[in-house]
Amino acid sequence: MDTTALANLLFPDITKTIEDYETIYPPRDLPEGAVVTRIAPSPTGFVHLGNLYNAIGERLAHQTGGVFYLRIEDTDQKREVEGAVEAVIDAMTFYGVHFDEGATADGETGAYGPYRQRQRKELYQTVAKQLVLRGLAYPCFCTEDDLKAMHEQQEAAKENYGYYGKYAIWRDRPIEDIEAELKKGTEWVLRFRSEGDPENMIPVQDGIRGELKVQENYTDFVLLKSDGIPTYHFAHVCDDHFMRTTHVIRDESWLATLPIHVQLFDTLGWQRPVYCHTATLMKMDGASKRKLSKRKDPELALSYYREAGFPQEATWLYLLTVLNSNFEEWHLANPDADSREFTFSLEKMSTSGALFDLEKLDNICKEYLSRKPADFVYDGLLQWAKEYDTALADRMTAKADFYKAAINVGRVSDKPRKDYGSWSAAAKFLAFYDAETFTIEDGCPENASGEMKAEILNRYMDTLDFADTQEAWFAKVKEITEALGYAAQPKKYKKNPELYKGSIVDVTNLLRVALTGHQNAPDIWEISHVLGEAETRRRLTDYRDA
Ligand code: GLU
Repeated sequence: MDTTALANLLFPDITKTIEDYETIYPPRDLPEGAVVTRIAPSPTGFVHLGNLYNAIGERLAHQTGGVFYLRIEDTDQKREVEGAVEAVIDAMTFYGVHFDEGATADGETGAYGPYRQRQRKELYQTVAKQLVLRGLAYPCFCTEDDLKAMHEQQEAAKENYGYYGKYAIWRDRPIEDIEAELKKGTEWVLRFRSEGDPENMIPVQDGIRGELKVQENYTDFVLLKSDGIPTYHFAHVCDDHFMRTTHVIRDESWLATLPIHVQLFDTLGWQRPVYCHTATLMKMDGASKRKLSKRKDPELALSYYREAGFPQEATWLYLLTVLNSNFEEWHLANPDADSREFTFSLEKMSTSGALFDLEKLDNICKEYLSRKPADFVYDGLLQWAKEYDTALADRMTAKADFYKAAINVGRVSDKPRKDYGSWSAAAKFLAFYDAETFTIEDGCPENASGEMKAEILNRYMDTLDFADTQEAWFAKVKEITEALGYAAQPKKYKKNPELYKGSIVDVTNLLRVALTGHQNAPDIWEISHVLGEAETRRRLTDYRDA
């Protein structure tokens, strides 16, 4: 076969060579050991948790004086959504992930672009042409139906699927046949001519998993689709080579096609990047583990966490806990340190399905927020509210000191309260403080209902003195409790319920419902001081009369 004739027949317009591109994209001038890595999402408009997870590469790059960039894998035009690039950048920026180069909302920055794959067609075709010249690629004119028939034949014969051996019917066709098809205008794809042997096992060093052995690829897979656009396999190899990527951090679902990728790197004589396959995100579904699914699990979308308002840093704390086996220990030893101070290493990343658990995330966020001063919580909540609850943002701005005081209840203590882990939960939790949003949610405690309700509330209001200390206040509550036939100690009531109307818990829960609308709420005395005397008395009276 005259491969020069074939290459010119297939790619008449390609005049550049691989060497030209080696000059256009020289090796990067970076310190020894610097990591160059990227995220390479498809612009589908759906930014998922995995994108943030793989953006862990940013820490690695910046820890080593390397480069972190954004490449847009837009080879599938059908799935592309307007504004998708902006959405990725916006989501990453929100979590403090910054790109040194790559695609931007309206263009790009950096010397290794273009960073959108569809703009790199000439580069892929140059590499493809070179492979044709070397006799390592050829056009295939099979139709969908031909491939379907091949698949059925393989199924019936219990043979491996794929385009190889006797099934690779265009592999050794004479150039005249190819010319004839081209003349007819038949669509074609470009296939790689694999010399691989399925008996061979190829060692691959995975940055997370250590040494892997993968079966050598023996199928003539597709390099360029019929529109001349490359497959992911071919495109990422060309891009990661010419963008001088040192580490490819991606989901473990790519392990299946890893043999193709290393075969391409080796055939082209390019140094393989360190492939790092991260564990797929899983969740418990009843008693079994399964992959997070876009259709079933809203929490796969990164926007879910922003809308719910899990603080960004706490979300990172959680992600790092799931991803890195030594992070939790470090965080326990350094509870107030920024997670960016943690030295991240690939070897410590988990290798098997990372179990994602919203309850654990919520607990980490609750712990995180409980350690923060009221001003911090106020600012975070306000920022979230400006985006997702503007009425709350307006109230918070109009009554800043009041909201800060409410947030501060139960905060300054050895055991600060952990009432909320997200801004949406905080908004809900704090609603009772503000007279504009206060509602009675819970019922009256049974032992303090009926005529006792008015009796207790009247006595309480008679003795209520805002100048009292918390101790004096509580002594009075106890006094009323006993005077009205309730046990001041819940234990006593439990032992002899027939002797009492109820216990102090019924009395204080009644006050809680009257003042907060909930039986479960922080300290009554503290809350009353945030509400002020007039509002406190108003709520007690309203509840008595309700
Ligand atoms: N476009 C691929 C994806 O979104 C990128 C995988 C990679 O990082 O190479 O899964």
